[in-house]
Amino acid sequence: MLQLDRLTREALALANGEPADGSAPGAAEAEVARQLQICNACRYCEGFCAVFPAMTRRLSFPQADVHYLANLCHNCGACLHACQYAPPHEFAVNVPQAMAKVRLQTYTDFAWPPALGRLYQRNGLTLALAAALALSFFMLFTLWLKGTLWNVPPQTGFYGIFPHNLLVSLFAPIFLLAVLALALGVRRFWREVTPGHDYAAPAIAAVRVGATAEATQDALRLTYLDGGHGEGCHNEDDAWTKQRRVMHHLTFYGFLLCFAATGVATLYHYLFGWVAPYDLPSLPKLLGAVGGASLCIGTAGLYRLNLRRHPRHGDAAQKPMDRGFIALLFFTSLTGLGLWAARGSAAMPTLLALHLGFVMAFFLTLPYGKFAHGIFRSAALLKWAIEKRLPSQLKLGDD
Ligand code: SF4
Ligand code: SF4
Repeated sequence: MLQLDRLTREALALANGEPADGSAPGAAEAEVARQLQICNACRYCEGFCAVFPAMTRRLSFPQADVHYLANLCHNCGACLHACQYAPPHEFAVNVPQAMAKVRLQTYTDFAWPPALGRLYQRNGLTLALAAALALSFFMLFTLWLKGTLWNVPPQTGFYGIFPHNLLVSLFAPIFLLAVLALALGVRRFWREVTPGHDYAAPAIAAVRVGATAEATQDALRLTYLDGGHGEGCHNEDDAWTKQRRVMHHLTFYGFLLCFAATGVATLYHYLFGWVAPYDLPSLPKLLGAVGGASLCIGTAGLYRLNLRRHPRHGDAAQKPMDRGFIALLFFTSLTGLGLWAARGSAAMPTLLALHLGFVMAFFLTLPYGKFAHGIFRSAALLKWAIEKRLPSQLKLGDD
């Protein structure tokens, strides 16, 4: 619970025009708690998203609840544009920005292994692209030493350039490590935001199926990017736009299709002995082509929206991380499409090395970049779907 003396100090500092120390430990969480105390008295934004009804089930905002609510926020910007207490008002309420700062803190604090958590703050465009280019260069250099960088026989397959077993030994550990790191990170987050004493286990078990179905639907449909009225969210100005939702969907489903293409190709290889690359109209090629195009368009759109985003939305310090992730995804899909187009040509080995370098860098940085937001947000959506099915613990009347 916020302590009275801290509230008094904050009020005095505010009255004297002193800036809050945003870099102090816990300062980001304290700022969200301060703003939510104001929102809880105002409640104008109650219908916008899940954050506000979840907020009204609380009278105070300890750190675990702030972490949960921050990851429930989709940064749609609606509450900032509606708020009568937003800057330049002296209350300086900017919920999307305050929540974004806490979200980054949660990715850092819950990262596994903990020592790598600081990478979230440094995982910018430069780091991500440098990793991709370094890995690509390493693979190109290997091909050059072998004399297979250019002028390979026209029908040489991928495994004639890089042996299948070598690729598996490179990618399997990276992929498994990324999955493990994300799973352990979200488990730590879940344990903090759902302390066992909130509700009895049988009560949670009774609502789990319905809650999981609803949370899955909300995560897949990006329900809260509709601004609460179905018209979309804000980007650079007061106008509503569905572009953020559309571009997120193109990116997310494009990624899933590419992942499915790899999965089907793996089954083809091990079950039937059919070796890549595959021709149209094979299933891996169809999934990969549609997924790659969707990923390319989605990430290009997200990058454009990110450049034009209203400066008061979100946290400007996170832009390098956002852009690094978007750029990695974009170049991964672009080199993948290029590889498909270059099949049978002398450029194939070079494009293969570039594509593999970007894919490897993507999975290496996956647990310590923007990808985590989808995992943490899904966990927060599940908590909200469970919580809303259970009676409020405030006992102040019906919700
Ligand atoms: S964001 Fe502003 S308008 Fe919305 S509930 Fe909070 S204080 Fe009220
Ligand atoms: S920015 Fe959007 S999602 Fe986040 S709290 Fe405000 S209305 Fe909800």
